[in-house]
Amino acid sequence: MNEKRKSSSKVRVRFAPSPTGFLHIGSARTALFNWLYARKNNGKFIIRIEDTDIARHQEDTISLMLNSLKWLGLNWDEGPDAGGRYSPYRQSARVDIYKEYTKKLIRERKAYHCFCSPEELKDKREKALKDNKFYKYDRKCLNLSAGEIKKNIDLGKKYAVRLLVPDNKTITFADNVYGTITVNSSNIEDFIIIRSNGLPTYNFSVAIDDALMEISNIIRGEDHLSNTPKQILIYNALNFVPPDFTHLPMILGSDGQKLSKRHGSISIESYREEGFLPQAILNYLALLGWAYDEKTTIFSASELVDKFSLDSITKKPAKFDYSKLLWINGHYIRDTEDKKLKEVIKKRVLQNILSKNKLEKIPAGHEIVEGLDEKIIKIVPLVKERIKTLSECDKLIGPFFVKVEYDAEIKNHFKDKKAFAAEVLNKTLDSLANTSKDKSNFNSSTIEHNLRQLSDQLNVSFRKIAEVVRIAMWGATISPPLFETMEIIGKEEAIKRLESYKNILAARL
Ligand code: GLU
Repeated sequence: MNEKRKSSSKVRVRFAPSPTGFLHIGSARTALFNWLYARKNNGKFIIRIEDTDIARHQEDTISLMLNSLKWLGLNWDEGPDAGGRYSPYRQSARVDIYKEYTKKLIRERKAYHCFCSPEELKDKREKALKDNKFYKYDRKCLNLSAGEIKKNIDLGKKYAVRLLVPDNKTITFADNVYGTITVNSSNIEDFIIIRSNGLPTYNFSVAIDDALMEISNIIRGEDHLSNTPKQILIYNALNFVPPDFTHLPMILGSDGQKLSKRHGSISIESYREEGFLPQAILNYLALLGWAYDEKTTIFSASELVDKFSLDSITKKPAKFDYSKLLWINGHYIRDTEDKKLKEVIKKRVLQNILSKNKLEKIPAGHEIVEGLDEKIIKIVPLVKERIKTLSECDKLIGPFFVKVEYDAEIKNHFKDKKAFAAEVLNKTLDSLANTSKDKSNFNSSTIEHNLRQLSDQLNVSFRKIAEVVRIAMWGATISPPLFETMEIIGKEEAIKRLESYKNILAARL
């Protein structure tokens, strides 16, 4: 850690997304590691929006990203919506600051105007490539006189501003993960700090903001490792003290390639929709490049805060393992209190099963909404152990809320055993008719008792009896536990379903 800073300042870390899309796994991991470091050290976690690259900027993605962070529970102390002493927290609102520092650098002859056109630079680059030579800007504009600069500007010529990179200087920094990195400045060209549209380049604005916002530690993806020497040159030129650096290992997909959209959904939002719990995602993200020991997988957010340390981050690329994420999610679902899970499931039932949109596809009157809370609290223990995501749950519990539809396959399921299936349905209906009208008598144990009796009476295995009843009840070969399921559906609806399937069989006999 930088000695000067260690003695003088508190931990201040930042997550600095460019608003170019949804919050994806890699960025969320960066945000998490920053948050953990801040919380562990009683520091501040800051969000800064890096939105000066107008070609890639998508305004509406800012709120999407912030919402995903909130959903994950990564609260911040300063940021675009929270304000703070170092406001504003959007780079587009800090352009005047970058301009001031540019003027200062030009005044001190540490930066200069460059009027070279993109075409001219492209030609030179291509020529160097053809000649197999290392290309570096040739400093054509370095020695323009004040008069020449003024004349060009008056003529309306476009210009960029370049940093004058000192020759043959050693740039060294100690990265917490990648160790000591040394680069000779002669390998770095006079890079552009202000584009011809007046906006700063990433390396310039990031260094100024990190310095002005008194960021103590930079924790970000290893794709920025190669930018760090340029940022150190900016720190040096402006007499700022560089922060401590930690670059996080790359995240690879299952094929060993850098994780990207090719690998399927990588946005936090899509995992949320798929029914992952935020605690599970957070837990899994922490394991992408960090480990406490060889064996522990499950960590609550507060355990992570307690155990997290930059020293345990590995250099080895992390592999994104969907099945592990699923397993962890299953764990958190089982671990959630029934009452809480009821609320989460209820939201999804309303949104995904009973929403207007979905209902249009369901014939009118097919929804069964009464007693939603009472019903869901009974469903929770039946499904909790069986699901790894909540969207799996949506599929499994649909027929509790929507009248059952039998598809062609299900209609033909008993094609060679129609008479048998019809007999089972008739006998089940008889036995149900005999249960008292009093709803309390229609419960899982009487239902089980009746069906077992039927199995003895017909001398067929109980499994075969249950298969018929389940298909009638659920329109599928898999359902939550049958007797409890029937109890929840209720006597009236259960009878209706048995009758419906009986009619289907009759039409086919
Ligand atoms: N805006 C940059 C990005 O999204 C931030 C990089 C950094 O943390 O310095 O990659």
